[in-house]
Amino acid sequence: KKIISKDGRQFQWEKILLATGATLRELQIEGSDLENVFYLKTMSDADKSKEELANVKKVVIVGAGFIGAELASTCRKMGIEVSLIERAELPMERIFGEEIGNYFLDLHQSNGVEVIMNESLKAFNGESKVEAVVTESGRVIECEAVIVGIGVDPNTALGHDLLEVDRGYIVDEFGETSIPDIFAAGDCTMWPYEGTHIHVEHWDHAVNHGKIVAGNMLL
Ligand code: NAP
Repeated sequence: KKIISKDGRQFQWEKILLATGATLRELQIEGSDLENVFYLKTMSDADKSKEELANVKKVVIVGAGFIGAELASTCRKMGIEVSLIERAELPMERIFGEEIGNYFLDLHQSNGVEVIMNESLKAFNGESKVEAVVTESGRVIECEAVIVGIGVDPNTALGHDLLEVDRGYIVDEFGETSIPDIFAAGDCTMWPYEGTHIHVEHWDHAVNHGKIVAGNMLL
């Protein structure tokens, strides 16, 4: 029932909430620091990419998950040519399965998106701004901007021998971890669902899990 911070301060506690969220995965490849390679995490990331995208005609999107799907759609509506690169066989297949994966593939293609599956990036080319991407199979795709949405990793660095962790802190139906009186909520958790534990990365879950776990902690 005591927390010690890195600078040595001590705090007494009755209940703790771990709401540590998740960290964006980044592509650590040649040319990663070129301008116009965008990630979307914060409001300022969104503002910056929105401003730049107003001036481009061709964009490459890496990752056909939630960010990739939403941005492919937004860019097409802005009249931008889009190549969408995904390392899996179908968009969103890991989460939703083959049938829905095929549905999203058709949807992107019917909206004029060039969908390139089973592929990932090897390098970004350019002087100061990105001018092309090079794929693992050697294809060079010219572009004026790249948006990377290759997923996140839950932040579970705060550990303890008694704290169960998988892809997130394991919590029960009330949000309590394997250590009594320590709770966790949101992207950093896995919670019970139909006999297993699931990990959900969606804003609706993040908002509601926070509210519900906070309510349980105050009981
Ligand atoms: P995501 O939905 O997990 O999708 C990432 C996709 O990129 C996956 O299909 C992944 O394939 C693929 N990928 C991974 N590494 C790759 C690589 N090197 N090259 C090509 N493809 C690669 O994550 P996201 O779209 O980046 O979104 C980030 C987070 O924000 C996620 O937690 C997402 O759920 C959340 N988000 C939520 C909403 C919402 O609440 N509506 C909207 C947008 C984003 P594998 O499955 O094989 O790894």
